[in-house]
Amino acid sequence: MITSTRMNNLHPYVPGEQPKDRVYIKLNANENPYAPAPSVQKAVTDFVQSHPEKMGLYPDPDSNELHAAIADMLNKTGGVLCRAKVDGDKVTPSEQDKIPFTVTPEMIYSGNGSDEVLSFVFYAFFDSSTKFVMPEFTYSFYPVYAGFYNIPMDNVPLNSDWSLDKDEMLKRAAANRGGIIFANPNAPTGIGLKREEVRQMLLKASKDEIFIVDEAYVDFGGESCIPLLNEFKNLVIVRTFSKSLCGAGMRLGYIVANPELVNIVTTVKNSVNHFPIDAIAQVAGNAACKNPAYYVETSKKVAEERDKFYIFLKEKGFYVIESQTNFLFARKDGISGDELYRKIKAEGLLIRHFSTSGIEDFVRITIGTKEQMNELRKAFEKVLAE
Ligand SMILES: *Cc1c(COP(=O)(O)O)cnc(C)c1O
Repeated sequence: MITSTRMNNLHPYVPGEQPKDRVYIKLNANENPYAPAPSVQKAVTDFVQSHPEKMGLYPDPDSNELHAAIADMLNKTGGVLCRAKVDGDKVTPSEQDKIPFTVTPEMIYSGNGSDEVLSFVFYAFFDSSTKFVMPEFTYSFYPVYAGFYNIPMDNVPLNSDWSLDKDEMLKRAAANRGGIIFANPNAPTGIGLKREEVRQMLLKASKDEIFIVDEAYVDFGGESCIPLLNEFKNLVIVRTFSKSLCGAGMRLGYIVANPELVNIVTTVKNSVNHFPIDAIAQVAGNAACKNPAYYVETSKKVAEERDKFYIFLKEKGFYVIESQTNFLFARKDGISGDELYRKIKAEGLLIRHFSTSGIEDFVRITIGTKEQMNELRKAFEKVLAE
């Protein structure tokens, strides 16, 4: 066979389906239903039209402008868009989200989607000699990287209410000495830990092991751990433009961490691909960060629709987990997750079903626009009446 033995360890991630046979309302990949801000569309168009020669040149290897813009946005919003306050063009964090220091560009590393960022973070901080700790149900890409880099993992079951078992995670982390990762809010459950809860974990965890918090969904109502960065030098926060910044197609993700850790991840990246995200994505990301007001508004809209759909599902007799994200995780006695997914698909809407044992009864529903959610309500009414 023309292959390497490493191939045996690869178990590639299967993304939410993107069918071409019919136009579906897509509520299966936690994308944002809104387009990027008009100012982003304009910045990209202007860049392509005014500086076509720049598409023939390598991009800024350090993404300096982008990193400054990301840091600035975090300082203005506190890292949680849906609670930030907008007054004209001025955006300020809510009291709850204020960061007690200034996030600087040296604290940012960006890459081609947070998936790529995560792969470098895994490479940099986890080792094949020790197990790292993660929840049994969390972002399903973590085990993919564990296989890719041959890093053993230690899966900690969730509590019966689907929340993280913090004590067990800490216990195992202490035994393994191999670091911790989880998404906060977690996926696919939608449940978040409060910042103080994460702080208590960090106080108990070893300062010499990496502690990674993936905040892909935090802008929709969680609590960011960015304010803890001055207290804990082993903390790495992973974030993305794909969910709250309406930018899944731009492939832009980043970490916020102390500059020493940022430098380590940069070293890994430069050993694989010595250029950063492409020039157009840099322009788009930069423009997005300069217009937080637009994304505060879209995040609020998504959160509102989520809370309305939560009530709808409850009224329909579903077990629904209260969510701080842009999706809901729900199941109903008498209809399997797979059947519900298939019947909703027949109505022209895609939601996500995971056949993973333990969560196979659930469906994960991404929150769309008001109009899309109205269509989804109609489909649920019809399917459940059958
Ligand atoms: C969507 C998601 C990501 C990946 O985001 P990209 O930036 O699109 O690669 C990472 N972590 C979690 C928990 C996610 O849900």
